[in-house]
Amino acid sequence: MTAPLNLTLLRKYNVPGPRYTSYPTVPYWDTDPTVKDWIRTISERLDESEKSGTGAAIYVHVPFCKSLCTYCGCNTRITRNSGAGTPYVLTVLKEWETYRKMLGRDQLIPITELHLGGGTPTFLSPEDLRILVEGILKHGRKTENAEFSVEADPRVTTKEQLETLTGLGFRRLSLGIQDFDPKVQDIVNRVQTFDEVKRVTDQARAAGFTSVNYDLIYGLPLQTLQSVEDTIDQVILLRPDRIAFYGYAHVPWIKPGQRRFTENDLPAGDDKRALYELGRQRLEQAGYLEVGMDHFALSTDSLWKASLEGTLHRNFMGYTSRYVAPLIGLGVSSIGDSWEIFTQNEKHLEAYVAKVEAGEIPFLRGHRLNSEDQVIRKHILNLMTRFSTSWESADLQTDSMKQVPEKLAELARDGLVKLSTQSCEITELGRPFIRNICMAFDARLARKAPTTQLFSRTI
Ligand code: SF4
Repeated sequence: MTAPLNLTLLRKYNVPGPRYTSYPTVPYWDTDPTVKDWIRTISERLDESEKSGTGAAIYVHVPFCKSLCTYCGCNTRITRNSGAGTPYVLTVLKEWETYRKMLGRDQLIPITELHLGGGTPTFLSPEDLRILVEGILKHGRKTENAEFSVEADPRVTTKEQLETLTGLGFRRLSLGIQDFDPKVQDIVNRVQTFDEVKRVTDQARAAGFTSVNYDLIYGLPLQTLQSVEDTIDQVILLRPDRIAFYGYAHVPWIKPGQRRFTENDLPAGDDKRALYELGRQRLEQAGYLEVGMDHFALSTDSLWKASLEGTLHRNFMGYTSRYVAPLIGLGVSSIGDSWEIFTQNEKHLEAYVAKVEAGEIPFLRGHRLNSEDQVIRKHILNLMTRFSTSWESADLQTDSMKQVPEKLAELARDGLVKLSTQSCEITELGRPFIRNICMAFDARLARKAPTTQLFSRTI
């Protein structure tokens, strides 16, 4: 059980900070890689993964949504034109073809993970979903332990889509739920009933999905302790295998849709954290275990098993049960990762399509990790997935880390970390402050504060 929250500490450490789905975090990417280097490092990771019996992870971003949820922080294109799906799928397959040509491999590309995210992947018709997945697999080889997962919006997801997806090998489904309270749903422009969510969950299980995740958000406008309690109680009735319980990130200067409500509508500070604490307690009472930051799983789920076995990984999609490299991102705004290089595709649909049509890898930007970045990345991943890290060995040290013990000293005095000369362990009391602890390792943040406010507050 997690320790009860200390409000004095909460106020003291409530500062803007990254969620560390990558290190360096995107605002600090500053050394664009060349396409040649990106392809070379993907190729190297593929060679390594083939030796270990794994393969690539592929993420496909489907940006379309039928309406805008005003809290949304994703890259979206709002449209009710269902005809937008087919040309987009063909563009993604053309991008995949460009990768295959540039990689120039004789054998099929081994694929260990395929994730469709969005936006709303179930904006695509069953036929478009089939063309997309079969088009990727036509030149790929699904490895023995492959896992296919998909995000879906219960409001637009049909039985036929679910059956098509399981027929294509998908077994993990993630549903956006957020909150069941009608007032909250109304102000964030996402009205969906318990019955709709139950229908999609039941249909998914009947179709063959073996793991269902629900995304919930705390800190939304008009949320109260009662509304969150009611939402969690309804969620528990449907027994998803995993739950992501994210804090709402209010960044209207980046996401103007968030200006449709005011800060006065938002629970903040102690009130916001109390929503999380209440949700966490209810979930733990119902048998869910806290995995990493903001994630919960039943003991039967592979995410919990991964946290026990030390294989848990964190990337742009949140937590995954293992590290798979390379990650090749297809589609507008998708992020790729070869460990040494991060890339992000064009964020505007038209610019993305134009580059793909020209036969290019449609980068917008990227970052080549230097040796210091790679060491710090390991420590931040360790903290985020195992709640501890050690820098006893010389290859896990950098000059910038000489300051880490000093930066952690106050957190240690407050009982949030156990600090020894060359290691630190996050205590139960410290778990809500995991982002603050990671920030002590973040050399780029220490050297240069972002010019604009890019991160939400840590609590
Ligand atoms: S929250 Fe999901 S469904 Fe809503 S606009 Fe964002 S991506 Fe689309």
